[in-house]
Amino acid sequence: MRILVTNDDGIYSPGIVALAELAAEFGDVRIVAPAFEQSSTSMAITAARPLHYRRTKVGSFEAFRVDGTPADCVALGAYNWDRVDLVFSGINLGLNLGSAMWHSGTLAGAKQAALLGIRGIAFSAPMPDDEDEKVDYAALKPFGRKVVEGILADRTIFLANVNYPLVPRGVVWTRQSVRHYDGRVVADTDPMGRDHFWFTAVPVEATEEGTDRWAVERSLVSITPLRLDLTDEVALKHARSTTGESP
Ligand code: MN
Repeated sequence: MRILVTNDDGIYSPGIVALAELAAEFGDVRIVAPAFEQSSTSMAITAARPLHYRRTKVGSFEAFRVDGTPADCVALGAYNWDRVDLVFSGINLGLNLGSAMWHSGTLAGAKQAALLGIRGIAFSAPMPDDEDEKVDYAALKPFGRKVVEGILADRTIFLANVNYPLVPRGVVWTRQSVRHYDGRVVADTDPMGRDHFWFTAVPVEATEEGTDRWAVERSLVSITPLRLDLTDEVALKHARSTTGESP
């Protein structure tokens, strides 16, 4: 099995080495990842200029750094390596729960794989506020193994979003939490006296049971199977039943 590994934190992130080491238990690994951080770039592709890549070394893995986005990396990686079976993206430095999935570059790596007809899995772990708390990638690995085995065993799952708690005690299937979003612009002034702005998104409501956020809050690894079809089936059915096939 050929596994392409990418991320959005940049090719020298510690998370990508941990993910490549997990991938190596399942097949041949090649890392193709952004040269620079691309967090929150979602599924952008580079369309106004050409892409370039350079060979580099990441741990013991064959690796290529690309001057592009995670989606670019997956497209380029699949172009340069025949018959990629699986794309892993991550392990992101920070969780990608609920509505964060819309912004996530990590998830985009997996989604781009799915668009190209390749199974994709995105992995994210917390970024602790406390400097004493660190992500222990070695401790996450057995859970990662279980996650990958579970996904590979179910052929109906083509795309999945995985989030680790800091210290896992199990693995559960979840759905996306969608009711947690407070997109807020925080204004401040830079050292030169100019106004600047940060767009931040923080969860607002109580967590719904069975969701990704609910699982991670209970120290469970969350696996959310995803699909690319964004159609609102309920709205479509309602529109057709009230107005017929056309409005
Ligand atoms: Mn990131």
